[in-house]
This record gives sequence, C-alpha cells and structure tokens, in this order.
Amino acid sequence: MKFNKVVISGVSDQWTDEDVKDGADADYVRRIRRRVDGELRPTATVILGYADDSPESVKLGYRLFRTRTYFADPLQCHRCLRFGHVQAKCRAATARCPRCAGNHEFDVCTAREDSTRIKCANCGGQHSAKFRGCSGYQTVKAVLRTSTTTGKSYAEAAKSSKPWRQRQTPSRYRRRNMHLLLLRTSQQ
Ligand SMILES: [Zn+2]
Ligand SMILES: [Zn+2]
Ligand SMILES: [Zn+2]
Repeated sequence: MKFNKVVISGVSDQWTDEDVKDGADADYVRRIRRRVDGELRPTATVILGYADDSPESVKLGYRLFRTRTYFADPLQCHRCLRFGHVQAKCRAATARCPRCAGNHEFDVCTAREDSTRIKCANCGGQHSAKFRGCSGYQTVKAVLRTSTTTGKSYAEAAKSSKPWRQRQTPSRYRRRNMHLLLLRTSQQ
C-alpha cells in the first residue's frame, strides 16, 4: 500500500501513535526517532500517511497542525554503501569500506588511523561514505524530492536531474561516478 505522506511538527510525545492516528484520521502514523547518545529518542515530528489525498492541516486536541509533504531520506546500504537498498538485500560482490572506499569491511581497514587516505566510495571526495553532506547523498536526496513532488518514478526523476551542474565544478571522475550512482540507485 502506497500512502500519500505528509509530516507535522511540534507534536508532544504524550501523543501516542494511536492517538495521532485517530485525531488526524490517518491510515498510517510513524513518529520520527533520532539516535541521541546511542539511544533512539522520539522527536516532535510525525509522518502521516493517507490512502486518499492528504489534508492541508490536522487537528490534535485543540491544536491545528499544518502538514508538509514528506520527503524520504535516501536509503544507504551498510555493506556496499550504495543508495536505494538495505544491507539485507545487497547483491554487490564485495563490501566497500566507508573510510577508504576499498573492497573490504571497515573492521579490517588499514586506513583507519590515516586521515590522508579517507575517500568516499560514492563521490571520491575526502570524507566518510556515510557523510550526509556528500554530494552523492545530496544528489539522491534531490532526485527523491523531485520524484515526490512531480509523481515521476525514481528512474525518470534521475534522468531529468543534472547533478553535475548543481555543485562546484566537480572533476570528471566525480561526474562520471555521480552518473553511475544515479543509474544504480532504484529507490522506492
Ligand atoms: Zn549494498
Ligand atoms: Zn578501508
Ligand atoms: Zn561523498
């Protein structure tokens, strides 16, 4: 079942998911959690899903909450570090290292103490492949956003995006890599 998803913010965690579901008359409810000091904590942001059109606002108790379109974050595989699937569904031949982009697990990486060997497996930049500011991550995120707002499939949205024009003159390596990254990602 694919829902039209929106988010509302500022929802006290005294509201349980069931309460929100009833109050907002939603078909699906999920509160966003964030890891703080190793512990998953509820945030004040809740995702609402509707089988039909989503409302522009919902009322919980006496308070009115404006809804915004929900944009999914890119899924990233912990094993091969590519986007669009999770580790359990990974079909890559080998793992890739989030530290140095080599074909090995992070545990056996010899570059762990050597910051000059940091290399992102997705864009080639000098940061961890799990860095959210990575142009690869940002590019996939932008495509997901386009896909959500235009109703296009991920593949269609990726085709119409020009990632190499959005950032500061990337190298040819990076440009080619980014293109492959989008082609390989088949998210949602
Ligand atoms: Zn994978
Ligand atoms: Zn490594
Ligand atoms: Zn990167």
